[in-house]
Amino acid sequence: MKIVMLGAGYVGLVSGTCFAEFGVTVTCVDPDEGKIKRLHDGIIPIFEPGLDALVKKNVAAGRLTFATSLSQCEPDADAVFIAVGTPTRHEDGHADLSYVYQAAKDIAAYLIPDHFTVVVTKSTVPIGTGREVEKIIRAANPQADFAVASNPEFLREGSAIGDFMRPDRVVFGTDSDKAAEVMRALYRPLYLIETPIVQTTLESSEMTKYAGNAFLATKITFINEIADLCEKVGANVQDVARGIGLDGRIGKKFLHAGPGYGGSCFPKDTLALTKTAQEKGSPIRIVETVIDVNNKRKKAMADRVIAAADGNVKGKKVAVLGVAFKPNTDDMRDSVALDVIPALQKAGALVQAFDPVAMKEAAKLLPGVVWTKDTYEALAGASVAVILTEWNEFRALDFKRAQKVMAAPVLVDLRNIYKPADMAKTGFSYSSIGR
Ligand code: NAD
Repeated sequence: MKIVMLGAGYVGLVSGTCFAEFGVTVTCVDPDEGKIKRLHDGIIPIFEPGLDALVKKNVAAGRLTFATSLSQCEPDADAVFIAVGTPTRHEDGHADLSYVYQAAKDIAAYLIPDHFTVVVTKSTVPIGTGREVEKIIRAANPQADFAVASNPEFLREGSAIGDFMRPDRVVFGTDSDKAAEVMRALYRPLYLIETPIVQTTLESSEMTKYAGNAFLATKITFINEIADLCEKVGANVQDVARGIGLDGRIGKKFLHAGPGYGGSCFPKDTLALTKTAQEKGSPIRIVETVIDVNNKRKKAMADRVIAAADGNVKGKKVAVLGVAFKPNTDDMRDSVALDVIPALQKAGALVQAFDPVAMKEAAKLLPGVVWTKDTYEALAGASVAVILTEWNEFRALDFKRAQKVMAAPVLVDLRNIYKPADMAKTGFSYSSIGR
């Protein structure tokens, strides 16, 4: 089979490469010439564990190629996937669909009358977008032989390849039997490992992605508020999370208290869902509250760091360990670091930060930070250190060495990676979330 993937970002490049690994012939198209040049030169433009080797393998096998325009591709693809960005539209909080609609126009110019192609939205798009994509293509190219399908992506950055190759489920929605047949053929390798395939209408498929992300964001926010109460009443949120998570109806995942969710999906998707819901006269008040609580929480995290430094960071060095929104990615979109670091700087702190892979991206967004070559250089002379991202290398700090280089042994662990009882033995003044 043959597909084109529009967008060679976190989703397009990973899913395109994984389809190639399934044996499909794939072209990833992205108008970002720098990105495509790097891919042609064998350089992976994003950090994603395992991606480098898988791209090289499939390029060498002749199954994976790259192009800057759909016009460079033969019009014989079984499917064209739209995997372009759908960021927040700043004026009103809705999803910005301009990249999706541009992709639809590009596809209209690509399709021919005597070859059937499925146009698949893999981007996270508001309910109704698939129908709009169909209208755009029909209007621009009435002779085109195509049908539209929605196939939301559930991979997580940092474990994207495993998530794509061994997903909990695949969801797709379409009105067309012919399109459904193509989708099933593309995902056939997953049938062999008995992956549940959920086939729905276009609308239900689009809605499933938003409902899933909104639920997970709600679960995180719930445990974060429970954590705050745990601090007030002397309970330990990790014990509570384990106690409730072992209930099969609740589940253990997404019950890690922390500084609030960030990243490329939850903030924008929860907001877009509430906007659609308000517009349709069916507001989702629980998700509106989640967004509000989470935004305030992220902003309040700097106060915890300032409090740990005796209420004042003016002129003091503050060490920040980790800036990516989560480990194993260089993605900085809506990372909590973008709230915490500017707030610390505003309070007069001199921020020294280290992240194993995200510093290049972060430096574009966080002026005035001293970026260091390793953890201990970040800790040097610092009056307080804060763990913002739970990278593995922060899980086994040498506290003797840290104490020697820091101005004061103070650690704020916003990811709860250490045990308070163990930290008590190190001589550090230690604070965490909900314990
Ligand atoms: P991204 O910004 O990393 O990549 C998008 C790419 O699309 C960019 O490289 C851009 O140059 C390219 N592009 C823009 N217009 C194009 C066009 N007309 N033709 C071809 N390429 C074009 O974004 P991402 O993180 O990969 O997200 C893509 C979509 O997938 C979003 O809707 C997102 O919500 C969704 N999603 C993301 C994740 C994730 O973890 N990042 C997970 C699931 C779903």
